[in-house]
Amino acid sequence: MAKFKGAQWRPIATNYTNGGQTAVRGLVVHIMAGTLAGTDSWFRNPAARASSHFGTGKGGALYQWVDTANRAWAQANGNSSWLSIENEGKGGDSLTSAQMDRIAEVFAWAHKTYGVPLQVASGTSGRGLGYHAMGGSGWGGHTQCPGTRIVKQLPEIVARAKRLTKPAVPKYAPFPGDKFFRSSPRSAVITAMGKRLVAEKCSAYSDGPGPQWTESDRKSYAKWQKKRGFTGADADGWPGKTTWDALKVPRV
Ligand SMILES: [Zn+2]
Repeated sequence: MAKFKGAQWRPIATNYTNGGQTAVRGLVVHIMAGTLAGTDSWFRNPAARASSHFGTGKGGALYQWVDTANRAWAQANGNSSWLSIENEGKGGDSLTSAQMDRIAEVFAWAHKTYGVPLQVASGTSGRGLGYHAMGGSGWGGHTQCPGTRIVKQLPEIVARAKRLTKPAVPKYAPFPGDKFFRSSPRSAVITAMGKRLVAEKCSAYSDGPGPQWTESDRKSYAKWQKKRGFTGADADGWPGKTTWDALKVPRV
C-alpha cells in the first residue's frame, strides 16, 4: 500500500491493475483535456479503460485515485514502471502555480518512497519527472500531452521538489555548551553574539565584539540578561542554553 498523505484519497474500483508495478522510474505529467470533476467521474466508468495515480485541479486540489503499489492505466507501455499525474486543463494550457506545487509534492514523495532522482527524465529509459509524449507510440502516441508549455515548466517543478526535500536550516546558532565559553574561545559565533548585544544596546565593550570571548563579552552579556529580566545564574554573564536561545544569535 502506498498512498501520499497530502492527497485526498479517492479510490476507484475499476480501470487499474492490482500490483504489477516494477521499479518506479518516475512520475509522468499529463493534461486532462477536461476538469478534475469530469476526470474523477470518468475514471469510475468501466468504459474509460483509463486512470492515473494522481490528479490536480487548477485551484490546487490533489486527488489520489490509484495506490502506487498498483498499475494505473495512463501511458500504455509506461504503466509498469512510471507513476502518473493528470492535470486539469486543456491542450496548450500552462499549469497554474498551485498545480506545480502539488506535482512537486507528489514528486518529492516519490523521491522519498521510491528513490526517484529529482531531475527531469531524459526519456523512457531514464528516471525522474517525465511527460506523456516522451513515450512516443509505445506510450500511446499522445504527442500533445501535456503540451509544450507544460514541458517547459518541468524544470521549475523539479526545483520546487528539491526545496521541499531539503532539511530546514535553523536560522539561529545552536548553544555551543557551557564549557565553550570558559576556554576564552576565538570564534565567528562570538562575533555574531557580540553584534547582537550591540544591536540590543547592551554593549559594555572596551574591545569590541569578538572574535574572542573576554571579560567585556561577559559584562555585555550580563547587561543584556538583566535587561531581559533574567536573574541569578541566568544573569551572571555566562551564556546558558535558556539565555542563548533567547538572544537569537544568527547562524554563522
Ligand atoms: Zn496523457
